[in-house]
Amino acid sequence: MQLDNYIMTTIADRLAIAHSRIAQAAQKCDRQPSSIRLLAVSKTKPIEDIIAAYQAGQRCFGENYVQEGAEKITALKGDYPDIEWHFIGPLQSNKTSIVAQHFDWMHTVSRDKIAQRLNDQRPNELAPLNICIQINISAEDTKSGIDTDQMLPLAKLIAQLPNLTLRGLMAIPTATADTELQLKEFSTLHNLFQTLKLHYPSIDTLSMGMSNDLDAAISSGSTMVRIGSAIFGERNYPV
Ligand SMILES: *Cc1c(COP(=O)(O)O)cnc(C)c1O
Repeated sequence: MQLDNYIMTTIADRLAIAHSRIAQAAQKCDRQPSSIRLLAVSKTKPIEDIIAAYQAGQRCFGENYVQEGAEKITALKGDYPDIEWHFIGPLQSNKTSIVAQHFDWMHTVSRDKIAQRLNDQRPNELAPLNICIQINISAEDTKSGIDTDQMLPLAKLIAQLPNLTLRGLMAIPTATADTELQLKEFSTLHNLFQTLKLHYPSIDTLSMGMSNDLDAAISSGSTMVRIGSAIFGERNYPV
């Protein structure tokens, strides 16, 4: 059934559906749909798919793999200079220069060393790299993101680095169909975001919510949802 669905619909159709899901979720909690940005997650997808989404009006894209992302950016930046590229995957410190040289945003900063290297390696002719701190909110035993009590010290470092701009927080919550648990984690993140905003009033980004937990994320204050499979279809290879 799902396969039929994907054959019948185009990327433009599915993008429109994603926008209407965002609008409906926003209306349910009295928020302006325009206060929530849609990041199209194009990992594993060919550049033709990115161009199809671009032609349907999409301008910001998320990539998870440094090398794959850098190749796509290099291939597309000549013809599509107004695409905004977001890095949303795990990053080893020996790969920071690729992110610093190619991307506009980096969502998964969780260590001082990574922040420092991104700052030092950001080319002077580029605008500062926009940064979200990744919070480890998941009940699962995962190592991505920092513990909540480390948020403020890391934010302090990032705010001092001239080639980085602190924009907010990002998290990948527990993969669960349990709405209660989704809401609990999202509301913890929202509280952390409010705390961070007291210290850094200019932050504006709470990056949370994916294809399966969009409603809970938006009702908890998400300002950027990251949607992949609901726009581009199932991933071309496992991640
Ligand atoms: C893959 C990915 C997404 C998109 O997930 P979908 O379930 O395909 O919408 C969002 N955020 C991150 C960090 C991802 O790695």
